[in-house]
Amino acid sequence: MQAYYLHGPRDLRPTDMDPPRPAADEVLVKVRATGLCGSDLHYYLHGQNGPFVPERPFILGHESAGEIVDAGACADALPPGSRVAIDPSHPCRACDHCIGGRYNLCPHMRYFGSAACSPPQDGSFREIVPIRAENCHPIPDDMAFAEAALLEPLAIALHGVGQAQPIAGRRLLITGAGPIGQLIGLVARHYGAAHLAVSDIRGDALDLAAALWADQPLRADDTDALTSAADTGFDAVIEASGAPAALAAAYEYCRAGGTIVQLGVQPGPVELPVNLIMSKELTLRGSFRFAHVFAAALDLLARRQLDITPLISARFDFADLLAGFDAALQPQTIKVVIDY
Ligand SMILES: [Zn+2]
Ligand SMILES: [Zn+2]
Repeated sequence: MQAYYLHGPRDLRPTDMDPPRPAADEVLVKVRATGLCGSDLHYYLHGQNGPFVPERPFILGHESAGEIVDAGACADALPPGSRVAIDPSHPCRACDHCIGGRYNLCPHMRYFGSAACSPPQDGSFREIVPIRAENCHPIPDDMAFAEAALLEPLAIALHGVGQAQPIAGRRLLITGAGPIGQLIGLVARHYGAAHLAVSDIRGDALDLAAALWADQPLRADDTDALTSAADTGFDAVIEASGAPAALAAAYEYCRAGGTIVQLGVQPGPVELPVNLIMSKELTLRGSFRFAHVFAAALDLLARRQLDITPLISARFDFADLLAGFDAALQPQTIKVVIDY
């Protein structure tokens, strides 16, 4: 079967390899769709993702859905042919964080297509993946694989919105209208936010947000418009761009007593107006991956409570993965999905 190994910056090599063998608690999934994530792009461009440097060539991809081809010992629950979405989290289930319910903070987490652990955990830019049966969530017959592949970023958004609770009846600013910012907006709308503003420097991303969920699209570089929109401040600001200026803006435009959720990955240490935390009694919360919401994300889509398909900008065949990466790097792209 084919797999793509990342050997270094912009060095993604198609490689022939033997199909994997499942361990006792694993099944084999024939991958049918994988979304391209910002973290995949970081690894592709720089050979690493922030502090996570792979110690050997490895396989990217963590937003996937497919079909069970070998159910191993789990044929009762997941017979061959079952259509499933893959939760890419493999926490240790033994540390304090896992036992305490915050398994996304597990220091031993193995996350598909990530070099945050050592050795890196191979992901799903390969035709068949071995995965724990419990990570496979059956999807309805009428849910497309491409849609199911986006359950992972939807779970990220659900977790991020959860960190900003309460949502209903409140005024929110979401900084960054990329795929995660868009999903956060859809979720916050569904949860009954009274007013949703969004900032970005890309006009077409703002247009999409306005068409799908946003009340007030704002140019991130238009300080006057942001100041006027903030008025006495937003009840909560969710930072989903990773831009230092956007994180600083969150401190400025969050109301006294409000909450800032930092979800975007910043490039490094950032200068921030930290005295505003003191004088406005701001609450700062981080949001890292997700815990316990993958099934909730699946339920939202299965019951057609959200439509995330407009976020898919382009689709490429697995054989054209490199073209998919190039398309994903274009500023007008929201989400690229790879079909197998
Ligand atoms: Zn992702
Ligand atoms: Zn753990």
